[in-house]
Order: sequence, then C-alpha cells, then structure tokens
Amino acid sequence: MRIAIVGAGISGSSVLQTILNAPEMESVDFKVDVYDNKGNFATGVPYIQDDLALLMNSASKDLSLNPDNPREFDEWVAEYSKDVKSNENLVYRQVYGKYLKAHFAPSYEHQAVSKIIAEVTDVRVNADGSASLATFDDGWQPHEYDFVFLAIGQTPYRNSYNLMGQENYIHNPYPTREKMPEFYSSDRVGIVGSGASGLDVMRYLMEHAEFDAPVTFYVRDTIFTATGVPCETDVETSLTFEWLEANRHPDTGKVALDTVLETVRADFSEYGVDWYDVVAQWGRSRLSDNVRAYHSKPQDLAVVQRYFVRAILILPHIFQALNLTDQQRLLADYYPYLTHMRASVPHLTMGRILNLLQENKLRIVDGLSDIKVNASGEFDLYGEDGILESADILINATGFEEDIIEAAKQSHLLKSLIKRDMILPHDSGRGPLVAWPSAKLISRSGVPQPIVMLGNIISSTQLGNNNARLIAQQGEISANCFIEEYFSKGDLNA
Ligand SMILES: Cc1cc2nc3c(=O)[nH]c(=O)nc-3n(C[C@H](O)[C@H](O)[C@H](O)COP(=O)(O)OP(=O)(O)OC[C@H]3O[C@@H](n4cnc5c(N)ncnc54)[C@H](O)[C@@H]3O)c2cc1C
Repeated sequence: MRIAIVGAGISGSSVLQTILNAPEMESVDFKVDVYDNKGNFATGVPYIQDDLALLMNSASKDLSLNPDNPREFDEWVAEYSKDVKSNENLVYRQVYGKYLKAHFAPSYEHQAVSKIIAEVTDVRVNADGSASLATFDDGWQPHEYDFVFLAIGQTPYRNSYNLMGQENYIHNPYPTREKMPEFYSSDRVGIVGSGASGLDVMRYLMEHAEFDAPVTFYVRDTIFTATGVPCETDVETSLTFEWLEANRHPDTGKVALDTVLETVRADFSEYGVDWYDVVAQWGRSRLSDNVRAYHSKPQDLAVVQRYFVRAILILPHIFQALNLTDQQRLLADYYPYLTHMRASVPHLTMGRILNLLQENKLRIVDGLSDIKVNASGEFDLYGEDGILESADILINATGFEEDIIEAAKQSHLLKSLIKRDMILPHDSGRGPLVAWPSAKLISRSGVPQPIVMLGNIISSTQLGNNNARLIAQQGEISANCFIEEYFSKGDLNA
C-alpha cells in the first residue's frame, strides 16, 4: 500500500505519526511519501527558522501536541533553554518549530517514509480508484497512491485591494527575513489589517526599523480582538467528548444548541459569570475597551477566555453535531463574540501596543474602504468619504482568502482540483466541503474520493481550527478514519 501526504506541517505530520503508530499497520507492507514544497518537514510554514520578532499567540501551557502529556511542551522548553520567551512572555515561533521537529522526528526517520521536496500541482483519481499526483518540476509521479492526504495549510492571502505584484506592496509577509524590504526612516509604512499577522509585522518593524512617522494599522472596522486577561482561577469546562456522547439524541446523533447553552451557562454560574454581561462589556471591537480590559483585568472576561481555550478540542465536534438551524443560530448569535473574546491579543502584547501608541510610534486608522496606486506610485488609502491619506509601503495582513474559487487564482493545486470537479465549495462559500469527521474531500458529483483535506482551509467544517492542537487532533482523527475504512475492507496489502 502507498500513501501520499502533501504538506508537512502539523496536519500532515500528525497524519504520518498516527499511521506509523497504529497497531493495525504493523502487519501491513506500506510506504508513505511526504511532499512539501518548501521542505518544511514537521514545522510547516508558521514555525520555520525566521525572525525572533515572530511569537506564538497562545500560552506555552496550551501548546503540547501530546494528548497523553499536556505538559510536554513546557517540559521540553524547561530542558531546551531558558531563552525561549520574549518580553511579551510568549514563546518565539521558531522555538515551537524546534519542539515540532523533536516531537515528529521518529516519524520522519521511519524506514517506510520518503521526504520529497516538491510542489504538488495536480491530483487525479484513476479508474481503479487509486490516485496520482503531479509536481511542478516533474509532472505525473510514477507511483499510484491508495490514499492521499492534502494537508496544505491555509488558503493563500486575500488580495482584497488587487495590489498583488505591485511595487512596495508585500502581499505575504512570511518568511519575514526574505519578504521584508530595507526601510528608510522617511518611509510611510502601513500594515493593512491588525490580526495575528498584523501583530507579527508590527513587532518586526519595531525591532528592525526607525521611522520619522508612526507605523500605521489600516483597518476597516475591527481594530483588535479583546485584550487577553490573565485568569486567577483554574477554569474547568463540562464540554468534553464524554459530555457530547452523553447528550446526543439516541436516534439522530444530534445535540440541541439549547442543551449546549444550558451547560455553558451552568458552568459559567459556578464562576459567577454571566455571558450576556460579558458580551455587553467586552464583546465589541473598541480600543477604549482594550485599554479598560488591559488595566482592570476583568475576571469575568478572563474566565470566558480560559473556558473556551479549555473547550477548544471539542467545539468543532459540537458544531458538527448541531442541526443546520442550530448551526446558523450559533454562527449568527454567539460565534462572532466567542471569536472576538477567545482569539484575544495577549495581555503584555496589548500593553506594548498601548505604549507604542502613546510614544507615537504606532497609530491606527479605521474606516478603510479601498486602496489605489496613484500616479507617483504611492498608495492612496480611501475611506467612505474619499482619500484618508497616502503611504509608501504597505504590508498585507488582511488574512486568508476564504472564497475557494478566488483562492484558486493563487494556487496551482486548488486550480487543478476545481477544474477536475474534485472540490465542492462549502455552502457558506468558505473553503471546500469535506465529510465529517474524516475530512474526506467531497467531489462536485458526490463521488467518494480517496482524498482527505486538512488545515485551516477546512475551517467551515472544522470550526475554529487555526490552532496548533486542533490541527494536530484533526490529522489524527482523519488518519484513524482512513485506517478504519481500509481495515474494514480486508487486506491492506492488496
Ligand atoms: C503565520 C501564522 C502564525 C500562527 N501562529 C499560531 C500560534 O501561535 N498558535 C497556534 O496555535 N496556531 C497558530 N497558527 C495556526 C496554524 O495554522 C497552525 O498552528 C498550524 O501550524 C497549521 O498547520 P498545517 O499543517 O495545517 O499548515 P502549515 O503549517 O501551513 O503546513 C502546510 C504545509 O504544506 C506545504 N504546502 C502547501 N501547498 C503545497 C503543495 N501544493 N505542494 C507541497 N506542499 C505544499 C506548505 O509549504 C507547508 O509546509 C498560525 C498560523 C499562521 C499562518
């Protein structure tokens, strides 16, 4: 049997590790070919050796990839070195990359595994149900595969203002060591978007350049997510895999959103927290709220944030157990507040931002509606009522393209999959539709394909999956679904 894994980040590496460790596979003669276009085996894109300005956005206690040892990352850090955290108390991203390399090393050293540095540009399903892959440099590969895992991470960056390819516009800032230009102090530099990538860019600019004018965040309406507040209580959640199984309808397997909400409400009341109060106080994106939360460290917000970090691994499974009406209600009435409060700006990072604003090294301009290049090659930034101002260099941090058809314009592989009708866009319009929990890609004609798709690209199905542990968990689940399916068919050596 021959398996291909395309993409060697956390998703692909977790698939590999699960297959190699599965007791069922001990009696199977198999080979696994792992393709990665950049040779980033184990780290994937976010955790490569890059600038020290790039930091993890989660606490080190939440970063273990070993479900049997939630302290694995902290223990590894304690052994590795003391110099692993920045003065924002966040681990350097490249240090996490070193942990990933150590964590996945036995898998990549396994004799059944071949590491191939190549960009996969096409996949086809053959008449006998096997799959073939083509690479950019060598075309169709000689081997046929029984199964393919496409673990290609996120979709390409959004090209919201059609500036891709424009001089002095940095469409994708990573790796920063290669992509960031040399700056002059007279440059007027803007960061378009203020999410996690925007914060990376801000840190990079503050470490590497001095400007006469403040660096500017240009945003439409959302300035920052909520301020992360250190939690003084050890927060527990009732939302677990056992809870989900116990609360599924015996016939349909569904769980009612009201049951979920009642459970959350009961959990919150243990800590004296009222969801509606917290939403009213902290649920909107206003800098004044960020400032207030930074100084007052409100514990009701802290409990909500910690609660959803604790529940992170079960949330996509609960989402998939809701019926369509409940899913839509969750997405409309609760999810926007949940993401705003959970995907928070770490506390000390917010402190740094507030200092930079005060020192006039940073500023924020909101109400952005368009960007155009003027006759002098500068960028004119427009609000609803006309030009706001101009900039010399813009760095894109607007996030990933969610529309799969648009995203395909920047990806050979997605373009091929769409051309072959192997992708059916999710009904939300965001990403491809995949089966749950296997994450098998569903073709436009509904024909089952021996292909799984993993990573942030499937976040319409695996809700909220831009998190290392969640990504790893899905790799494991999909690999186990594959093993179960193929084992149930009989001889895996056939
Ligand atoms: C900049 C950034 C910072 C992040 N920071 C955090 C954080 O601090 N904490 C956290 O929990 N999560 C963070 N995340 C979320 C992150 O998505 C996950 O933690 C995780 O690393 C994603 O793993 P992945 O394997 O799905 O994707 P990736 O790590 O992106 O791996 C995909 C791999 O596939 C390769 N590839 C893509 N297309 C092809 C192709 N056609 N052929 C061959 N190879 C291909 C890529 O080069 C890459 O190596 C961050 C994400 C990004 C983008």
